[in-house]
Amino acid sequence: MEFPKYDCHLHTHFSPCGTPEMTAQNIFQRAEEIGLTGLCLTDHLHAFTNFDQFHQLRQEILQADHRNLSVWIGCEVNVLGPGRYSITPEQAKKFDMTVAAPMHWLKEVDKPDSLEESVFAEFIVRMLTAALDCPHVKIIAHPLLMPGDLEIKYDQAKVLKYLIDSPNTTKFLHQARSKNIAIEISPKYIFGPLHDLVVAFYRRCLEENVLLALNSDGHALHMMNIWDRHARFLNILGVTSSNQLWMANNHLPKISILDKNAINICK
Ligand SMILES: [Zn+2]
Ligand SMILES: [Zn+2]
Repeated sequence: MEFPKYDCHLHTHFSPCGTPEMTAQNIFQRAEEIGLTGLCLTDHLHAFTNFDQFHQLRQEILQADHRNLSVWIGCEVNVLGPGRYSITPEQAKKFDMTVAAPMHWLKEVDKPDSLEESVFAEFIVRMLTAALDCPHVKIIAHPLLMPGDLEIKYDQAKVLKYLIDSPNTTKFLHQARSKNIAIEISPKYIFGPLHDLVVAFYRRCLEENVLLALNSDGHALHMMNIWDRHARFLNILGVTSSNQLWMANNHLPKISILDKNAINICK
């Protein structure tokens, strides 16, 4: 199956975890080398992030060469709990889109009452559902990311089984569908030991006609080239039509907020 490649979850050197080589110019050059049609830069917006960095990034983008590439600007927002996000609705208007991260295990983020597997699974579904109300959200990032290094051990496979079977997951998917919000496939989390369950989760998404977004969540240049893995995974899922995928050109503005000269992203 041939389809245009858009990577709409990508970090620059402005993210604390992005490598110094992740300049706009280097990213655009790599994007062209691997045949991307477009991309959206989505640096982290944490509570401590100086919002001015997005203004600096905008300048960097405008000075770089991206003639053959559609470029948008977004950010990755932390879901803190139901109705609570690391972005305000006012800030969200400065971006073409946001990517909502339901499970960044930070101090300010809600935690489950216990790590008992069914409780943990319901907590994840609650955070996924909360992510759907994040200001300006188009994509739910790495929906199955779970912390693996907690002091108390828990059975990740069991958590996933509960999650896949929960009626609240069905409700979450119905809402995602009606709001036209995509679920991300992040190649970092699909070929590990939980592979079969991960496949089962994404098949649930497809059954409910929820769109899947293919991103890299790249923090370094070498992490951007993930399209063979995506193709392999889509094959396993049985995706046969690009209509089942979230395509940036169908969901993001024709003219990026970057090019609207009257709008200053910082002010
Ligand atoms: Zn993330
Ligand atoms: Zn990210």
